[in-house]
Amino acid sequence: MADKYDAVILGAGAAGLLCAIEAGKRGRRVVVLERADRIGKKILISGGGRCNFTNLHCQPENFLSANPHFAKSALARYTPSDFIALVEKHRIAYHEKTLGQLFCDRSARDIVDMLEAECRAAGVKIVLNSNIQHIERKNEFVVGTPTAEFRAPVVVVATGGLSIPKLGATSLGYDIARQFGLKLQPPRPALVPFLLGPADCKQYCDLAGVSAEVNVSTDHQSFREKMLITHRGLSGPAILQVSSYWREGNPIRIDLAPDRSVAAAIQEAKVRSIAARSALQEILPKRLAARWLDIHAPRSWTNRALEELERRLHEWILLPTGTEGYEKAEVTAGGVDTGELSSKTMESRNVPGLYFIGEVVDVTGHLGGFNFQWAWASGAAAGRAL
Ligand SMILES: Cc1cc2nc3c(=O)[nH]c(=O)nc-3n(C[C@H](O)[C@H](O)[C@H](O)COP(=O)(O)OP(=O)(O)OC[C@H]3O[C@@H](n4cnc5c(N)ncnc54)[C@H](O)[C@@H]3O)c2cc1C
Repeated sequence: MADKYDAVILGAGAAGLLCAIEAGKRGRRVVVLERADRIGKKILISGGGRCNFTNLHCQPENFLSANPHFAKSALARYTPSDFIALVEKHRIAYHEKTLGQLFCDRSARDIVDMLEAECRAAGVKIVLNSNIQHIERKNEFVVGTPTAEFRAPVVVVATGGLSIPKLGATSLGYDIARQFGLKLQPPRPALVPFLLGPADCKQYCDLAGVSAEVNVSTDHQSFREKMLITHRGLSGPAILQVSSYWREGNPIRIDLAPDRSVAAAIQEAKVRSIAARSALQEILPKRLAARWLDIHAPRSWTNRALEELERRLHEWILLPTGTEGYEKAEVTAGGVDTGELSSKTMESRNVPGLYFIGEVVDVTGHLGGFNFQWAWASGAAAGRAL
């Protein structure tokens, strides 16, 4: 005998749990099916274990999507203040780290415990170790796991993206979208470190661990934050941000000295090569400054060469050979095409009763708490419509 509910929610991550809470509070009988042996595994490891749960400056511009307008409605109806109110209701201590990013003082576990308590209060049933295997639509939806069947007129797909397969990411959400004829924007790893080719790696990768504040751009998008050199390429917030916009084969441009100029100081000096070294070391970590100069210093220190050095310092062009892929990507960009969904409720336009929320949808946030804010907001949008 199949259990009967008003809604079956697939995935007990950020989006699925918030959706369940909102629907449960409105008296809906909700079951959440989760493949793992615990809820919110990704929340637990997020933000270095402290969960950057939202961002005070959340704006639609902080999200990528084939339709940049789609996220606006849900984001406006469930704002960072709404989630902060929930956090404060549970007396969870938090702080702003930088750029509006809010983190737990203690541990990401506080957020998971809060969501679990809210689910309990709202009468939500959570079934762990439920690897969803199939979904069918007869009079209503039937969702099958190896041991049980769940029936409901509504299914909410909140199974996330493909990032971090070792945490249990699956393609289920995309498979369900395809099964019901919904279009997808091709999924791709985002917020992910870059790999450099052998020649560039030989020149820079032994500096692994060195970081500097830079301005990195690609495809008309630029981010001024820290960049970190790794054993295989580049990482750090500025690189992760730009990676979401990067396409295979495109170069990235790095301004190593944003808003600074070195040429004038070098020009005045008696020995320009020595002055260049100290000028760069004022701006960049010593080892990076020295290495970059070893590779880019002109043969003769003419005024023209100096101008060229300054230009290159502000426009160091590198061609990543790829990214570290889903193993290291914080999110998956692309996903269920927003043209298929109502921006108000997240319900499929052509398959009534089928909803998609969170990362599985083609809405991807910048680094800094925006991906959770989208998970909460899209989860609330669906939960309030069930
Ligand atoms: C290392 C790391 C750190 C991050 N830190 C932050 C941060 O600090 N701030 C921020 O905003 N974002 C952060 N993110 C991104 C954020 O975690 C995600 O965008 C967010 O969790 C997406 O929520 P979701 O509910 O859509 O998907 P998920 O949280 O991925 O949840 C999906 C759930 O569905 C389950 N599932 C999948 N397939 C099946 C199946 N076949 N059957 C049953 N269940 C299934 C999964 O087990 C999972 O529990 C981080 C991501 C990573 C990887």
